[in-house]
Order: sequence, then C-alpha cells, then structure tokens
Amino acid sequence: MNKVIARILGSAQDGGIPQVGCLCERCQWARMDTAHARFPASLAIVGRSGRLLLIDATPSLPQQLDLVRDLFPSDKRLLPDSVLLSHAHIGHYSGLMFFGKEVASTKATPVYCTFAMKHFLESNKPFSYLIERNEIRIKELEKSKTILFDEDLNITPIEVPHRNEDADTLSFLIRSNRTLFYAPDFDQYTETIDRCVRSSDISVLDGCFWSRQEVSDRSYETIPHPPIVETLERFKGLKNRIVFTHMNHTNPILDRDGRLRSKLEKNGFRLAREGMDIPI
Ligand SMILES: [Zn+2]
Ligand SMILES: [Zn+2]
Ligand SMILES: [Zn+2]
Repeated sequence: MNKVIARILGSAQDGGIPQVGCLCERCQWARMDTAHARFPASLAIVGRSGRLLLIDATPSLPQQLDLVRDLFPSDKRLLPDSVLLSHAHIGHYSGLMFFGKEVASTKATPVYCTFAMKHFLESNKPFSYLIERNEIRIKELEKSKTILFDEDLNITPIEVPHRNEDADTLSFLIRSNRTLFYAPDFDQYTETIDRCVRSSDISVLDGCFWSRQEVSDRSYETIPHPPIVETLERFKGLKNRIVFTHMNHTNPILDRDGRLRSKLEKNGFRLAREGMDIPI
C-alpha cells in the first residue's frame, strides 16, 4: 500500500439494520432490498505495510471482512492482524467469538483495549477461553497515550462518556498524513471530543438518533446519544469533514424518501456507508 486507508465496515447501531424482530419501515426496506442493510459500526485500517487493523469486532465480522478482501487479493485466508476495542456493548466486541477454536482458531491475535475492558473479557466466557487458549492476546491501552501501529500510522485512544455498565469507552484519533477522529458511540459532547473534531481533517461520529424526539423521553434518558441535529448545529460552517455512523433503525435520516439525508448532504455532512474509503 502506498497510503493508509480507512474503510467503513459497518455504519449501524449494535443491532445492525434490519434489526432482529423489528418490522419498522426502515428495517423492512433493508430486508426487501439488502442494498439498504447495514452492519454494526466498525472500521478497517490498512497500513503501508499491508497490515489490517480492525476497530471493533461486531457480530457481522465474517461478512465485514469480505469488504476488504479486494485489498488482499493473494491472501488464502484473511484475518485482522490486530483488533482495537472501543467498549463492552455487544455490537463492538462480540465478534471476537469468531477467533475461537470453533471458527478461525487464531494464534495470539493482539486485541488492544483498556484495563477495564480486559477485565471484562477475562471474566466472561466465551472470551476468557480465547485468552486462555492464546487465540487472542490482550494488549492494554493507556488512555490518551499514542501507539505506533504501523509505519506512519499512530493511534491515540481518547476516553468518551458512555453507559459504562461493564467497562469504559474509547474513541480513537488516527494519524497518518491526515487525522481521522473515530467516535462511533458516546452519550454527549465534552470539551475534549469537540476539540478532537475541530482539529481532525475528518471525523466519523455517533449518528444514532436524528433528534431527541425519535424515541420516548424515558428511552432517551437511558440510552442518550448526541442527536444529529445538535451535531449539525455545533459544527455548522466547520470546513473539516464530518461523517455519521452507528445509525439506529429508528433514525429518519435513513428514510426511503431521502429528504433529511439530502438536507444533511447540502450542508456538507455525509452518512457512512459500508465500503466507504477514507484515505488518511
Ligand atoms: Zn454501540
Ligand atoms: Zn426497525
Ligand atoms: Zn455502546
């Protein structure tokens, strides 16, 4: 590779779209026409040395790895060289199960995560088995400490506020020629998140809900996310590119009529899509 590529492998909330058991208009549309289906949020990064780094391991990991197959045409078997985990919600780590002996039986694949996330994996089967059998090897990330992942590619884990029932939550500042801020899942903006967006060339941000009214007040209180309308307002006029990911199936930005989507695009914002490349 002569440049570092980030490729979107998933753009939906943890349940993907269509979501299990849901017969809403958006889920039914995605069921009838799989071109409109979306996987849980995940990002692949391919460094100059051709190493594949995966941010988050989702339950759709088998299909998502097929989305980078073209970058590795001569490989007989394609698995990530390392994985970075953002947090302990099912859409972000459960895909690790495919690394176990029932499936890929990987050999000490490095999995980067925080101390709390490490404790969570070590304390819960089947993930503890992967560690015991050395199919994955946990590498502890220190918050805000930059790690060199590949020639000319470094990543800084930045803590974000989120429902941390079982561990803590990270976003990632990914730097090569350009800076990409990847923050797919958080509760609300902080000064740090705001600063990361303003100082990065491109940000891929939590776009779970269009507005607070999309779900009941009670649901919003228990599962807060920064609504897209508020992010648009906050970063109005900013030249740096903003792409939304982690969309929930309730989000009208995904409506068939495309009305809100074109409004958003007219203002210079984008929606993430599986297969979308972000050169960094
Ligand atoms: Zn999530
Ligand atoms: Zn639905
Ligand atoms: Zn989450």
